[in-house]
Parts: sequence; C-alpha cells; structure tokens
Amino acid sequence: MHITPFGAAGEVTGSAYLVATELGQVLIDFGMFQGDAEDDARNIVPHTLHAPDLNAVILTHGHLDHCGRLPLLIRRGFKGRIHATSATRDMAELILMDAARIMESDFARKQRKAQKKGINVNRQDLPLYDSNDAERTIECFSETPYETYVEVAPGMTMRLFEAGHMLGSTSVELTVTEQERTVTIVFSGDLGPRGLPYLQDAVTPPKADIVVLESTYGDRDHRPLSETVDEFAGIVKEAIAERGVILIPSFAIGRSQQVMYHLAQLIREDVIPRVPIYLDSPMAIEASNIYARHPELFDAEASALAQGGQLLHDLANVRPLATADESKHLNDVPGPFIVIAGSGMCTAGRILHHLRRRISDPSAHVIIVGYQAHGTLGRRLVDGHAEVGILGDRLPVRARIHTLGGFSAHAGQTDLLDWLAPLTASQPQILLTHGEDEARIVLQSRIEERFGLTSFLPTYREHLTI
Ligand SMILES: [Zn+2]
Repeated sequence: MHITPFGAAGEVTGSAYLVATELGQVLIDFGMFQGDAEDDARNIVPHTLHAPDLNAVILTHGHLDHCGRLPLLIRRGFKGRIHATSATRDMAELILMDAARIMESDFARKQRKAQKKGINVNRQDLPLYDSNDAERTIECFSETPYETYVEVAPGMTMRLFEAGHMLGSTSVELTVTEQERTVTIVFSGDLGPRGLPYLQDAVTPPKADIVVLESTYGDRDHRPLSETVDEFAGIVKEAIAERGVILIPSFAIGRSQQVMYHLAQLIREDVIPRVPIYLDSPMAIEASNIYARHPELFDAEASALAQGGQLLHDLANVRPLATADESKHLNDVPGPFIVIAGSGMCTAGRILHHLRRRISDPSAHVIIVGYQAHGTLGRRLVDGHAEVGILGDRLPVRARIHTLGGFSAHAGQTDLLDWLAPLTASQPQILLTHGEDEARIVLQSRIEERFGLTSFLPTYREHLTI
C-alpha cells in the first residue's frame, strides 16, 4: 500500500495524492501548479502515473489548484469516475471552462503574433487543454452526497465530510483493504476557518490510521473575522457618507459572495444606506448562481436568511453586470456606489478600467479584501506606490487604499489543531501537505507539543509505503 504526493508537498498548489494497492489506484485531487514558468512546466501527468490504470479520482473541491490538471488525465486515457459533491462539480465546471478559455485565447494571441513574424508558435505555448477537454472532464463526474459510503475501487471505499472552505468542499475518508489489512486514510483537503459566512464549519471524520493534513497557515492564526468585518463596515460607511465610489477587487468565487453577505448585514442593520452594489464579473455572477442552487449547504444563519427571503431583500440593490459595455457605463456615474469586480489581484479583468477611471480621484476608495502576490498591481496599491501603471497609463494614486487582511478561506493554526484533535486518540500517522515548509515545520512542532505525535513532511513524488 502506497501514498505518493504528485503536488502540494512543501508548497500550496498542485494538490494530488495517489493511493495505490495491488488491487486498485485512486487519485485524490489533480490540481494545477500556479506561480512562475517553472511551476507551469510541472503541469503534466507524471510518467509514473498511468491514467488508464486509475480506478477513480476523488475531488475535494473546485479550486483550480485541486482540479486544474484533471482534463490532462482524460486526454491520457483515464476512463474512471470523478467523485465529488454536486456543488464541487458545478464549481469545477465553472473553473475548468474558464481556465480552458483563457488558455485558448492566450494561444490564439500568440499564434497571431507568430504568424505576423512568419514563424511557428513555441511548443510550450500550446494550451494545456481546451474547452472540449474540460467538457469531457465534467461528463466524468459522479455526484456524491456528504457522509455516504461509495466504493471507488476494489478494496477502497470513501466518504466525504464537510471541510468549510468553499461551497461543496470536502475532506475524504478512504478505507483501504489489502490482504486482510484495512487502513483508514483521512485527507483533510483544504479546511476553512470556523464561522465563514454561508458555509457550515468543517466536520472531522470519526477515525483515522493516517491523516494527510493541509498546513497552509500552520504557522499562524488569522485576525478574528469579526474585527475585520467591523473595520470593513467603518470604511464603507464613511465612504458612502462622503458620496465616494468604492472599488472592491475580488476573486469571483467565494470572496465576492462573502463581501456581499457582509454588505447585506450592514444594510439589514441600517449601518449603511441602500446604495447600488454592482457585481461586475460574469464569473462571480455565475458563482453566485451556484450558491443560490445549493441552499442545502448553508449554515444555520445563512439558511434562515435565505429561506425567509431576507437575504434577497437585503441584496435587492445588487446589480449584476453581464456585459463589458454595462461595466464601462459606470465610468460616467457619480458616487456613492460599490463595485465588486475581478481580478482579485488587479492583474486583469474589469477592475482595471474602474481603477484607471477612479485611482486619481481623492473621493474614491479601494478596499483590498484578498491576498496580493508580489509583482501585481494590487500589491503595488497595498504597498502605497504614489503612481501606478494601469492599462498603459501612468496615474497618480489619490484614491484611498484600505487593506483588510482578515478575510481568509483557510483555517489558521488553532482551527487546524482543533480539527485534528478528535483523530489523535488513535495515534495516527500524520503527513503535513499543502503548505510551505516554513508553515508546516511550525505546525509539526505544535502537533508534537499538543498531542505528543510525530508528523512527517513528505516531498514531491515521494513513494510512501504504508
Ligand atoms: Zn482551496
């Protein structure tokens, strides 16, 4: 019996773990590596992974770093099923189709450039896969309810548990039998922090011989969400009182819906008046529709608000902008109003033209609600650059930039340890994955201190015998 990480070992992207016995092989996640060109080059099916021999894939949730390489498996002859919750199937469809379209249009652009020069496009510029591959991938999904046993391969049975990280997200309990020996392996998947809007909190499976635990924020706790929400409320209230325009660059899935949930609460409690809220992202609109289709997954608070129609009432002033023309129309509209638009790090998308229009306006506010990587426009705004380049223009930054660090869809250190606690009674082996070494080394020592258990830090493609 073996486990092999094909990603997310000492890093946070490329999640993929193979579980193999003499009887069968199952892959948990097959995500994309994200980052620089070196990471892009790792987006392959490793030669030791034979797609036609795989019995099944279990997908923990729809983020690209967990599902992004699945179409490559289909291309390489995978014939099994992809087991996931219904919401994860919907999210994966949205994300994979979007990824395929971006790769197709990037390739078309490079092809046009090459044609002009009379040369061929480079091999590494070919898209990893296209929309057709993504569609074929979605057809392989088998929708699986939470906490239901499903046989996924000879001698392997799984159950999915709520992970509280994104709509439909799961942890996986995999029971593996080989030669009269049965081992229960629990994969945490990405775990959410307690109390995330809409979502139910993560549920720890009942027992494990081996735990594969994520460690993204294994070295720290986040600022409490309530403090961040209070700060957010103060900024929005003041900006509206000054009749300013508020721009919120946001990831389309998860964060946009969270921001709207907090705005709904502020409106309900009369903290802010009913100003127009423009949801200016086709992908965020589609993601919100997926939320609306899955009220059964909501936590008690969101469920009560949704059932009574209160949430719809609070958000009656949200206007989804489907087309780019509608979006550009806002250039001539005076404040106060709120725009939620992508991309989350201001690297592309409609947020760019809003920023170009408003960044030099002292009455405008930009609220940063997500992580901003080095080298992005979002990061330059956070770092307080006096002037920035946007869509070819150099513009002075006169709008007020607010950075809120406390919104996160990942559990901090304490939530990770609390999730693990019920499993420690049976003294399982613990493998720490999905975290930079810095984070997982700190988590390793906390686990030792609190539970007296040693945990292991597996490396990429390490062949771990169970
Ligand atoms: Zn995730």
